[in-house]
Amino acid sequence: MTDATLARPERASAKAGRPRSSKPNGQWKVDGTEPLNANEVWKQEDGGLSVRERIETIYAKGGFDSIDPTDLHGRFRWWGLYTQRKPGIDGGKTATLEPEELEDRYFMMRVRIDGGALTTEQLRVIGEISRDFARGTADITDRQNIQLHWVEVENVPEIWRRLEAVGLHTTEACGDVPRVILGSPVAGISADEIIDPTPQIREIADRYIGDESFANLPRKYKTAITGHPSQDVVHEINDFALVGVVHPELGPGYDLWVGGGLSTAAHLAVRLGTFVEPSRAAEVWAGVTSIFRDYGYRRLRNRARLKYLVQDWGAEKFREVLETEYLESPLPDGPAAEKPTTPGDHVGVHAQKDGRFYVGATPTVGRVSGDVLLKLADLIEAHGSQRLRTTPHQKIVVLDIEEGRVESLVAGLEEIGLYANPSPWRRSTIACTGIEFCKLAIVDTKDTATAAVAELEKRFTPETGANELLKPLTLHVNGCPNSCARIQTADIGLKGQLLPDGNGGQTPGFQVHLGGGLASEIRSEAGTGRTVRGLKVTTEDLPDYVERVTRSYLAGRADEN
Ligand code: SF4
Repeated sequence: MTDATLARPERASAKAGRPRSSKPNGQWKVDGTEPLNANEVWKQEDGGLSVRERIETIYAKGGFDSIDPTDLHGRFRWWGLYTQRKPGIDGGKTATLEPEELEDRYFMMRVRIDGGALTTEQLRVIGEISRDFARGTADITDRQNIQLHWVEVENVPEIWRRLEAVGLHTTEACGDVPRVILGSPVAGISADEIIDPTPQIREIADRYIGDESFANLPRKYKTAITGHPSQDVVHEINDFALVGVVHPELGPGYDLWVGGGLSTAAHLAVRLGTFVEPSRAAEVWAGVTSIFRDYGYRRLRNRARLKYLVQDWGAEKFREVLETEYLESPLPDGPAAEKPTTPGDHVGVHAQKDGRFYVGATPTVGRVSGDVLLKLADLIEAHGSQRLRTTPHQKIVVLDIEEGRVESLVAGLEEIGLYANPSPWRRSTIACTGIEFCKLAIVDTKDTATAAVAELEKRFTPETGANELLKPLTLHVNGCPNSCARIQTADIGLKGQLLPDGNGGQTPGFQVHLGGGLASEIRSEAGTGRTVRGLKVTTEDLPDYVERVTRSYLAGRADEN
């Protein structure tokens, strides 16, 4: 039934019926396709992908003021473009000003990198675009993208031309669409890989990204695929995830997970108990994505993620609908993936299966620059390689290094601020975009996290505890409750908010969320931790607070031994 899944459905399904409420939820297959809110109206009238032509022929010539507001605040996202926050507006105004008052005339542009796979030629092009059109900005995101800022609409066609000339693009990098496909950063090269997911990532991206059939989903849709035993793509928080396993009779393939997502209401994905053979991965992806398109709740945007449908249906019903309405044939039962025993950030020097080495290095909280990207491309080529990967932990991994060149590469990386032997703090701290550019932000994140890392490195030297942090505590800093940097999966997750300053005013700070630690050895079970009610910390006190929590954790661990 693969082809049938690509047609917009008209009829109601008795089998998958309407959940709970009798009020229409905007499920196309249950309620019909009549739009129930303004977003759904414009998405149906003229889909997001169509705006590209207007950007190239009208807006790039007419400038910012020529942009139709529905395109600006809606369809531009389908091409990876968001307006960024006007500089100098403090977090207290985020909720009180109109969106247009917060908005600058410049754009954030997200370059989509499926599987995080880059060549040095591609890296150099992104670096040049950053230098020429984005004031030198570049951030590696926790979804393996590279984000640029200060982009002007006049330059967007030239940026696309340069990106597409080397096989990169921004198609569906944002919007209610299948976002970038997370892939194991060591796909195809790691000595201990269960299965190489590269062909499956490529097939899904080539067949379905930019395909109108999946260009109007209820909301964003996140995919992750790994065949590495460290489960290095944080699969539990994606809408669709495949995790490498070996079936006793069918050999290597994947365990299927659906319905994960964080934001303000965290849900971990659930296993369907199926085994997905590599040859069926694209078909199964299209089936699950079609369920989201056809049955996902569209009436309320805060209920429009797949996680709510999975929660209401449960794994058994979801699997039944997938197999009976969307797949050619049922899926076999399959084994669960084993709990990982190594961290999935790939930092450090590791052996490849071909005898060469890969080197994982961390920038500080994902921040690099066009200049660093250009120097990195030169450095990698000077060491005989042309390949690298970005990771879902805001790192980079350089591939294909001969043993005799590893030491020199590691030193060269450090010279440009990429650390293969980082302190526990530099390694395990990530931060979202925050108030510098994000219109939803309440507090600063990148600079705050960078300062905290520097301070914690002073307080935890090898003599005073750093060496005990062999399994680093993860610190995730977010500028608002939306959890782009995964508040709920960190050991210490921070959610930006304004706090009373004791003098009748407000000061930037965070609500604290303790004990996520997905796929981490320091937690026995995957979980989304808990928010500690009433526990808040100001930006200024952040290093003191993290030090206290860490020393208490280390003392507890010592007591257990
Ligand atoms: Fe913006 Fe909030 Fe997401 Fe940070 S968590 S990038 S502040 S929306």
